[in-house]
Amino acid sequence: MYSSMYERVRLLFPEGRAQHQRLVELLQSQWLSPEEIQTLQLAKMKRLLDHAFTNVPFYRRRLQEAGVHPDDIVSLGDLARIPVLTREEVVKNRQSMVAVNFPRNEVLESATGGSTGVPMGFYYSKNRLDWSWAAHSRLNAWFGVEKGTKVAVISGGDFILQPTTMQKARSWLRRERWLSSYDMGKENMQAFAEYVMRFRPEVIRGCNSALWLFAYYLRENGLALNRPRVIFGGLDKLHDFQRDLIEQTFGCPVAESYSARETGQIAGQCSAGSLHIWAELHRLEVVNNGQPVEPGEMGEVVITALEEYAMPLIRYANGDVARMDGNTCSCGRGLPVLSELVGRKCDFFSMPSGMVISGHYFVHLLKGWPGVRKYQVRQPSTDQVDILYEADGSPDQAWIEGRRREIQAHLGPEVMLRFQQVDQIPPTPAGKHLFVISEVPVDLRADVPC
Ligand SMILES: [Zn+2]
Repeated sequence: MYSSMYERVRLLFPEGRAQHQRLVELLQSQWLSPEEIQTLQLAKMKRLLDHAFTNVPFYRRRLQEAGVHPDDIVSLGDLARIPVLTREEVVKNRQSMVAVNFPRNEVLESATGGSTGVPMGFYYSKNRLDWSWAAHSRLNAWFGVEKGTKVAVISGGDFILQPTTMQKARSWLRRERWLSSYDMGKENMQAFAEYVMRFRPEVIRGCNSALWLFAYYLRENGLALNRPRVIFGGLDKLHDFQRDLIEQTFGCPVAESYSARETGQIAGQCSAGSLHIWAELHRLEVVNNGQPVEPGEMGEVVITALEEYAMPLIRYANGDVARMDGNTCSCGRGLPVLSELVGRKCDFFSMPSGMVISGHYFVHLLKGWPGVRKYQVRQPSTDQVDILYEADGSPDQAWIEGRRREIQAHLGPEVMLRFQQVDQIPPTPAGKHLFVISEVPVDLRADVPC
């Protein structure tokens, strides 16, 4: 009742109608065959390249330097001729990456949260926001979630830090209630748990690490909420043990989504378990050294935002690492599938010996750490690894000593390994609670033992 009323009111506004139109398109295009989706992507890509070459000084220069004209791109494979765009290049060239013909009053500005290094400022269009909204709504539709359904959200971001009155009003009308992932202390979580028990949301949405911390708190304190229909998790790596705990605690499946601030919604998980790329919005490649790798192989994520015309992002490496799945999904949708979001490049630890260790190694080894609620493995320099932890009581020193010996032997004698008990491990500026984070640049072409 509330849902249909909410939708009718939304359609009275131009923005609501624009978003609805895009959703209608996406609900149809998801059933195209993989070949038809590639044809659609190529058409969108060529249109974007023409626009960038004509109207964006940065890309005109870049394509000319690479000896590529938009007319040369006749297949999606030809994209590999265009150099990969790094985060550093965006930071340096942001102003010349804005299309000169794009109305300035329609260009919006934001910045990435910056888990490591400096935040990256960028510009984007309202059109991209409308597409992102539509992609998010399509994911909701896959699980039968209508607009205006009660949602509890546990996350960070600008909305939590500095919500405008308009944002607060919209959120309230959408029937969303928020818990800040910047404060996952016991008092805040207890208050939110009590609130959620009264509110009885049908959907819980949030940052994976924060959802896990909330589930952990509920389990440790014997609290039970109503069973939501689905949990939408995203924003950081979802480890298997986290998914297990969240699903057991809430009694419903976790559907993962993949998004990034600078590109919006990128992928979402269907009920058959596949992480489908929103291919109508993004051409996503998994590459090594700029060249696409075979399905199943690990590589860097490179994205072209097909519907962003204010500040085009063409072959942009967003710092994530993934594997592509060469198969289609049993759900029947033709949208391509990511077999695994391995993590971010800063999840990999580069050792003085040249060995590269996946952060999964630490997560696996420190699983079930007795008496420890939260930990974080940091690598500030090649020869140093710090393991910070928050303990509920007195931690088991024998357990720590056993792990210390094992990890030290794996890292090598030239690495200084420190376990350090702290009062609080702060979340990232975006409100994520990361288990592993390396500040040392890594070359993923090296062998990665997981
Ligand atoms: Zn599917």
